[in-house]
Amino acid sequence: MTNRSPSESRRIAIVGAGIAGLACARTLAQAGHQVSVFEASDVAGGRVTTYESPFGGFDAGAQYFTVRDDRFARALEATVPGLARRWSANAVRVLDAGGRVVEASPPGREAHWVTTPAMSELPRRWALPLQASGQLQTSTRVTRLQRDALDTTRWQLHTESADGGQQVFGGFDSVLLALPPSDLRLLLSRSKHAARLAKRIEAVEVAPCWTLMMAFPNAAQPGLQTLGPQWNAARSTHHRVAWLARESSKPGRNPIERWTVQASAVWSREHESDDEARATAKLLKAFSEVTGIRAAPAWSKAVLWHEAKTTEPLGESFVWDAELRVGLAGDWCLGARMEDAFVSGLDLALRTLEQS
Ligand SMILES: Cc1cc2nc3c(=O)[nH]c(=O)nc-3n(C[C@H](O)[C@H](O)[C@H](O)COP(=O)(O)OP(=O)(O)OC[C@H]3O[C@@H](n4cnc5c(N)ncnc54)[C@H](O)[C@@H]3O)c2cc1C
Repeated sequence: MTNRSPSESRRIAIVGAGIAGLACARTLAQAGHQVSVFEASDVAGGRVTTYESPFGGFDAGAQYFTVRDDRFARALEATVPGLARRWSANAVRVLDAGGRVVEASPPGREAHWVTTPAMSELPRRWALPLQASGQLQTSTRVTRLQRDALDTTRWQLHTESADGGQQVFGGFDSVLLALPPSDLRLLLSRSKHAARLAKRIEAVEVAPCWTLMMAFPNAAQPGLQTLGPQWNAARSTHHRVAWLARESSKPGRNPIERWTVQASAVWSREHESDDEARATAKLLKAFSEVTGIRAAPAWSKAVLWHEAKTTEPLGESFVWDAELRVGLAGDWCLGARMEDAFVSGLDLALRTLEQS
C-alpha cells in the first residue's frame, strides 16, 4: 500500500460491492486513500453469487468468466493465485430449439474460468481485507447523496440498514457509484446535486433474466452418473432458454447432478411479472425439450434478475464528472461480463487517482 500523508489522503465513498466496486475500492485503498464501501446486500459480490441448496451450490449469477485484459489476469494471479480453474465448458454447444447440436465450438477456444469452490469465492476474497479494516459496510443501502452540510465542497451519503435504521456519513471528497443502471437512476433522481449524471447513461439498457436451478440427486446412483446429454454447457436458440449448464461438472464442486438454466432476455422480459411457480413450470418444460431429461428435479428454485445482462453498453469504461468528483462504474459501461465490471471499476479508480 502507498503511504500518503494525511493531507494527501482523500476520503472516498464507493457505493456497491460487486466486482466493479471491489476493484475500484481495492485500487484506491492500495494507493493510500481512506475508502468507505457501502453495500445494500448482506454480502459483497452482487451478480457474482452462489445459491446454496441441500444438494450443493449453484452459480445463480455469473456462470464463469473469460480473461481478455492483462490487468484482470494480473489481479487474479496476484490476489487469488490458484483460485480460478479452467472449466471444460470451452466446448460449449449451440443447440436448436429441439436440443439438436448445430454448432460445437472446438476445445482450445477462449478459456472459461470458474473459481472454486464457487463463483462467490472471488468477491468474498476480494472483500476480506476491506471488511477486516472496517472499510466495507454490508446491509447498508445508500438512499441519497448530497453536499455535505458542514463543508459544501464535500459529499454526504444517507443510508438505510436492513433493519430500517437510517444514518448519514459525511466528509467525502469523491463518491463513486458502482451500481447497475436502475439503481443508479433511482439514486441520482433523489440527489439534486448529482442528478445531471443520469443524462450520461440514458442510452444504457440491461435485460432481465429468469434463472432456474435444479438438483437431481437420484442421478448419482451407481451406474447412472449423469442424466441426459453428454455436454456440460450449451447456448440454446429455444425461445425460452438461452443457456444451460451442468453445475456439477465445474471443478471443485459437489458431484450431485445439478443444472442451471438461464432464460432468454426476450422471454424473461415477457415474463417479468410471472411468479416463481409459473416461471419454474415453463422453464422446466423448455429444459426437458432441450436436454431430453424428463425426470422431475428433487429440488428447484427460480430467481428473477431484473437487471442481468447489458444489451446496450455505454461504450466507455466509466463516467467521471471532474467538477462534482462523482463517478459511475459497472459492467454496463463496456458490456455484460465480470471482466467488464473489473475493468470499469479499475479505470474509474485510476481516473480518481489522477485528480487526487
Ligand atoms: C444470470 C446472470 C448470468 C451471468 N453470466 C455471466 C457469465 O457467465 N460470465 C460473465 O462474465 N458475466 C456474467 N454475468 C454478468 C456479471 O455477473 C456482471 O457483469 C458483474 O457481476 C457485474 O458487476 P458490477 O459490479 O458491475 O454490478 P453488480 O454485481 O450488480 O454489483 C452492484 C452492487 O451494488 C449493490 N447496490 C445496489 N444498489 C445499492 C445502493 N443503493 N446502495 C448500496 N449498494 C447497492 C448491489 O447489492 C450489488 O452488490 C451474468 C449475470 C447474471 C445476472
